Amino acid sequence: MTPTTAPSTGSWLDELPLQLAALDAQHLLRTRRAVSPLQGAHIRVDGQPLLQFCSNDYLGLAGHPALAEAACTGAWDFGVGSGGSPMVNGHSTANAALEADLAQFVQLPRALYFYAGFATNASVIPALVGAGDAIFSDALNHASLIDGCRLSRASIHRYPHGNLAALDALLAGSTSRRKLVVSDAVFSMDGNVADIPGLLALCERHDALLMLDDAHGLGVLGPQGRGSLAAAGLTGAAASPRVLYMATLSKAAGVSGAFVAGSEVLVEWLLQKTRSYTFATAAPALLARALQASLRLMEHETSLRTQLQARIAQLRQGLQPLLAHTGWRLLPSDTAIQALVVGSNTAALALMDGLRQRGLWVPAIRPPTVPAGTARLRIALSAAHTEADVQLLLTALTALAPTAEPALA
Ligand code: PMP
Repeated sequence: MTPTTAPSTGSWLDELPLQLAALDAQHLLRTRRAVSPLQGAHIRVDGQPLLQFCSNDYLGLAGHPALAEAACTGAWDFGVGSGGSPMVNGHSTANAALEADLAQFVQLPRALYFYAGFATNASVIPALVGAGDAIFSDALNHASLIDGCRLSRASIHRYPHGNLAALDALLAGSTSRRKLVVSDAVFSMDGNVADIPGLLALCERHDALLMLDDAHGLGVLGPQGRGSLAAAGLTGAAASPRVLYMATLSKAAGVSGAFVAGSEVLVEWLLQKTRSYTFATAAPALLARALQASLRLMEHETSLRTQLQARIAQLRQGLQPLLAHTGWRLLPSDTAIQALVVGSNTAALALMDGLRQRGLWVPAIRPPTVPAGTARLRIALSAAHTEADVQLLLTALTALAPTAEPALA
């Protein structure tokens, strides 16, 4: 008998080059560039000097001598690697001291220090909820939160970005006893801040836990940079046991790693149950030492935030004349993340290339990272930028701005 359909002889691995070519054709192929020196506003990319607006080092601390000094001393005191899980031998006295400092900095009862932000979100959520429970997740949440939700096997209800009425209705309709609301505190591709008091009020009404990812707010927002929760007045005596605060230490803090903070019992639960905490090597003590130095600077060097705020105001004001005739949209944001939405992927890439030719590096962000038709420049400002740096960017954008109304896809 001759089979009617010949079995495919090709391996699925043979399809990968075609799929990569398809991504390339859609301008969705991502590339990396080797950068050195890395810190500050003026860097070198593949040997080319560039003024960058793409770093998450919002306070310019990643290259600060006090952090380098603390890391070096930490390496001499503790060695470079931590040698094991924090549950075995990896929890150095430096990491323990950092946890105490972190809790004090964000004015919450207790903190737990993780080696990476992505892994924190991906594994803290499954430690909190599981099959039969319900998660309510903002549509613009970061990929790490989305992965955490999926890994938990709880049912996931996505609510439209920032829409508290929709969230209220979803919570009211849920029959799950354990409910978790998850939100970025500062949205990483738009730069806007979540309505934290509004979210907490809903969590109180519906007996839900609120998890906030403040990766982009810590160091930038709130008194002494204590973050979005402090900015909302919900820390210290006003802290709620219903809030689990999470922030990365790879952005304004200038190092790497992350932490969660909240009530004693919540943090103890996560210490017991989070797989990426138990089954991963603890962050090296030298990083904890650098982070302690960073926290001191974040708290006391208020000029860093003043400088950042001045650059934010300068950029937003300087872009206004361009918005009137280009069709570009500058999303509302008081944070270091300023999103200039240009529409199509090709327009965003052309703008990025044009800036690059003028010696400026501003990344174009395209779908699927952002919704289709909202490709944008994600301009990341830093205390490391001078007024002249931002003026250079404004001049270049003015030169590259389309003169007629472009098609906003
Ligand atoms: N959460 C948010 C909102 C982020 O933007 C990021 C990283 N860009 C992460 C978590 C992951 O943190 P990390 O890069 O420190 O692993």
